[in-house]
Amino acid sequence: MGLLAQRLVSLQEAENEVRKFKGKITEIERAMIRKSGEVRKLKEEYEQRVIDKEELIRKRVGLERALEVVLEEQKKFKTARNMTKSNKLYVELTAAIVKGERDIAGREDRILDVFEEIESRESLCKQILLGVEVEYKKFQEVLEVNKVKVAELLARLSLCKMRREQVSSQLPIQAYDLFNRLSKRMKGDVVVGVMLFDEYSDEEATYFCKGCRLSVTLEQVNQATVGEDVVQCQHCSRILAWRKQEENSIGALELPRELKE
Ligand SMILES: [Zn+2]
Repeated sequence: MGLLAQRLVSLQEAENEVRKFKGKITEIERAMIRKSGEVRKLKEEYEQRVIDKEELIRKRVGLERALEVVLEEQKKFKTARNMTKSNKLYVELTAAIVKGERDIAGREDRILDVFEEIESRESLCKQILLGVEVEYKKFQEVLEVNKVKVAELLARLSLCKMRREQVSSQLPIQAYDLFNRLSKRMKGDVVVGVMLFDEYSDEEATYFCKGCRLSVTLEQVNQATVGEDVVQCQHCSRILAWRKQEENSIGALELPRELKE
């Protein structure tokens, strides 16, 4: 394989490494954002529950105050009944007191119900808070681990970038520009190998660009094998570079015998 082709392959490999590490870092960062969102949601739920509980406590205080007013009235009725000499008034006051007792009992029942509801809300709040604490602690632990991981990945990423820089500085500017233009436009590798399918033809072997899987000419394959000029696939514009499979992650299937370096 020619030097230019070799360098283009190396550039693609370096580019892939850079992308791999960038991808890993992004993946971790996204996972952490997701997790922190979950913890925040749980915390918001807890805060809402506390608000609900406090609202109910205010309601209880209101009910207790209203009860006090009724109790005060009841006391006045009883005092008035003790002091009255009128039989008619005594009967009327007794009726009012009986009615008041029923009212008081009803109010006390309602207050007890509210008490119970407050208790159950309180225990729910505690439960949710415990969940928040557990999840937050887990999040913090994962965050610490991931910080170390990201730092390691960033260090490796910067090495990969240096390698990419080094490889690209050895390439002719036109070849490097072409690589960049294609990389921006396409997903995946832009320096690709060639596939050979001899079962498709009786006479000659048929070659396919590994990028778009359309056929390329034997002349292109030969040129790509020599690797002195940049050879592009006429269909997808990817750069064709031939290399033995065992050396090359980008490379093609088996190298045809007559084309072996
Ligand atoms: Zn192609």
